[in-house]
Amino acid sequence: MSGTVTCSRCRRTAAAIERGIFYTPELEAELRAGVCVDCWNEWQRAEVMVINELKLNFMDPGALTVLTGQMREFFALDSPAGGPAAAAPSALPPDVNLKNPATDESE
Ligand SMILES: [Zn+2]
Repeated sequence: MSGTVTCSRCRRTAAAIERGIFYTPELEAELRAGVCVDCWNEWQRAEVMVINELKLNFMDPGALTVLTGQMREFFALDSPAGGPAAAAPSALPPDVNLKNPATDESE
């Protein structure tokens, strides 16, 4: 028995995760403290789909960043307690000017 947690995803107080692959010790601590075992089991299935859908290759160090980002979103780890999960900020600041230096239209 590993006690109960208040889950950040389903917001119930439910059984905590007992075992799993957590990628990083920080993520493990966060997930054990804030995600219930039912949501964890849902993620296990979602994770396979994410990996397949995004064609994640774990030889690429960026793949883990993508996967843990999806995981944080899935569990609503970054949303304020009680707030809407949809309020996640964009990865880019709004004033970033994405201009393409290869396109030189000076003619
Ligand atoms: Zn839950």
